[in-house]
Amino acid sequence: MIRASRLAAVFTAAAAVLLTACGTPSSPGTHEPSPSTTAEQKAPHARHAAKKRALAPVWRHGGRAEKVVALTFDADMTADQGERAAGGERFDNPQLISTLKRLKVPSTIFMTGAWASQYQDQARAIGRNDLFEVANHSYSHYAFTPSKCFGLPSLEQDRMRADVERASAAFRRAGVRNTVPYFRFPGGCYNDRSLRALAPLGITAVQWDTESGDAFATDAEAVATEVLDGVRPGSVVVMHCTRSAAPVTEEAVRKIVPKLRAQGYRFVKVSDLMAS
Ligand SMILES: [Zn+2]
Repeated sequence: MIRASRLAAVFTAAAAVLLTACGTPSSPGTHEPSPSTTAEQKAPHARHAAKKRALAPVWRHGGRAEKVVALTFDADMTADQGERAAGGERFDNPQLISTLKRLKVPSTIFMTGAWASQYQDQARAIGRNDLFEVANHSYSHYAFTPSKCFGLPSLEQDRMRADVERASAAFRRAGVRNTVPYFRFPGGCYNDRSLRALAPLGITAVQWDTESGDAFATDAEAVATEVLDGVRPGSVVVMHCTRSAAPVTEEAVRKIVPKLRAQGYRFVKVSDLMAS
């Protein structure tokens, strides 16, 4: 008993600290307001609109008129997890990719540079398949805010842009072709300082409006239910492409896809949803 509860405690602590996954059911992305976080609210004023242009735009979902939905998968791996991967821990999920191909589900993969470096062959295959597009999820999967981002270590503001560019370089090295200029903040955590740091890259920060709760989930049915309950026309769903931290995602996808199709939904990539 003692051993079991200790293991549970260790797992819980590991989940909190190593949460390579993004978001929780109660927080669809974490926008940490800085003292000057008012650019969005003051947009009607020209002066503040000018200020807003100095921030990378943030996008959460598509138009609500059409029954389309974008499944997004974060390929998480933290820069210091290479040793664990070398020890046999699997941060990839080839079965999930196979299922998406078999079910013909266009998807957007938010890939970390660390993942692309660890799994170069898979990154290349994903990045050369027209069913998928590859967006940037940072190199290191460190937090882009000073604190309160699921225990992730924080990046200094002056290192944020380089971290994103390092991920893009890792994609190029792996031979990824289908890249799109979108970025997902690790943990979904951002503030005006991080949006300002990334603005020169010309990228759009992509959040989501539908949680799946697949991070560290053990019940695929519960994950599927959370998605099916949350999806609306134009929704963006956040899930994960890493067996280590999201072991039931592939099974959940097999439950979700036919049910949403039966409801009349069509699956699209983020770029298509953004254009619609
Ligand atoms: Zn992530």
